[in-house]
Amino acid sequence: MIPYGRQDITAEDIAAVEAVLRSDFLTQGPAVPAFEQALAAACGAGRAVAVNSATSALHIACMALGLGPGDWLWTTPNSFVASANCGLYCGAEVDFVDIDPRTYNMCPVALAEKLAQAAATGRLPKVLIPVHFAGQSADMAAIGALARQYGVRVIEDASHAVGASHEGLPVGACAHSDVVVMSFHPVKIITTAEGGVALTNDPALAQAMELYRSHGVTRDPALMQTTPEGGWCYDQLVLGYNYRMTDIQAALGLSQLQRLPAYLARRRALAARYDALLAELPVVRPWQDPRGQSAYHLYPVQLRDRARVFAALRAAGIGVNVHYIPIHTQPFWQKRGFAWGQFPQAEAYYRGAISLPLHARLTEAEQDQVVAALSEACRDID
Ligand SMILES: *Cc1c(COP(=O)(O)O)cnc(C)c1O
Repeated sequence: MIPYGRQDITAEDIAAVEAVLRSDFLTQGPAVPAFEQALAAACGAGRAVAVNSATSALHIACMALGLGPGDWLWTTPNSFVASANCGLYCGAEVDFVDIDPRTYNMCPVALAEKLAQAAATGRLPKVLIPVHFAGQSADMAAIGALARQYGVRVIEDASHAVGASHEGLPVGACAHSDVVVMSFHPVKIITTAEGGVALTNDPALAQAMELYRSHGVTRDPALMQTTPEGGWCYDQLVLGYNYRMTDIQAALGLSQLQRLPAYLARRRALAARYDALLAELPVVRPWQDPRGQSAYHLYPVQLRDRARVFAALRAAGIGVNVHYIPIHTQPFWQKRGFAWGQFPQAEAYYRGAISLPLHARLTEAEQDQVVAALSEACRDID
């Protein structure tokens, strides 16, 4: 089976992890801050807070922005469920904004309409989470301008977009947002096995997220509310969690980060090759916004008779996948009052969507196999 995504682990990665295993610290040692500094530099952000998953990063970002009961969080239905669940973790209400049928990202026009309606009824969201689907940035200038106009805070879910850029800036620079979150799950652009990061330019937000990451506890005399009697003292200031990344994970991430430019080049070259190879097939290829460069976490195509093509490709050993079943159509969200038909663009996109295999170790021969199988499956259908 040719997987739709998978990690690339080198001898250098293994040596980096082994060095941590042989060192004094498996966690809370020097590798995590080293990884954080390298990430902040690579993404153009002031601060990086590394955690054990992007899901945790979304949660502490929402908490740091003060999201709580009585508040609303809006995100896109075309994402993984984690982009919405973080609102419920905080006791807030969650709603969705439909997508742009060309980019599959949150639609700024739909957002403007929904914000105007919400302003009229006094139900503006506190937090908005656009997701950079497949690795391509959402239209952050437009979304950021609307958020500023209505006083809404913004978290970018850049789980797919490590290394992407938009309008001359790396995703992660927080030019139009408060926090940018990334994932280091093995199918993403770089990996720490499980892991994630929250990037911000706001030192107060970084400090709050660091507290929520580690039980709400600090040993920093500048933050402590008691006068330390000795070196054993720490203060719990808020209710936090154990969302820490280990040094083992951070060492792997730091080693992977060295190859980020090579990974992006490879993914972009493979995507361009798909663009050319699929030109004659009855499929809609992903559109690249000329204002930016996607990280190409995914190569999503749109086609007719998706279920049959999907089954034919799986039968041919091609590990295709579907991103995403719209969040609001999940049983859990339907029980909370959502229904099919509410976000028609995300639903229409989903009905035709297949993600073709794309990862740094995919060979051109494997890619040719994918295209041949897809071509065959499309012939059956036409
Ligand atoms: C992978 C992913 C997440 C969750 O990432 P984890 O690191 O697995 O918690 C969140 N949002 C999106 C868009 C993702 O693709």
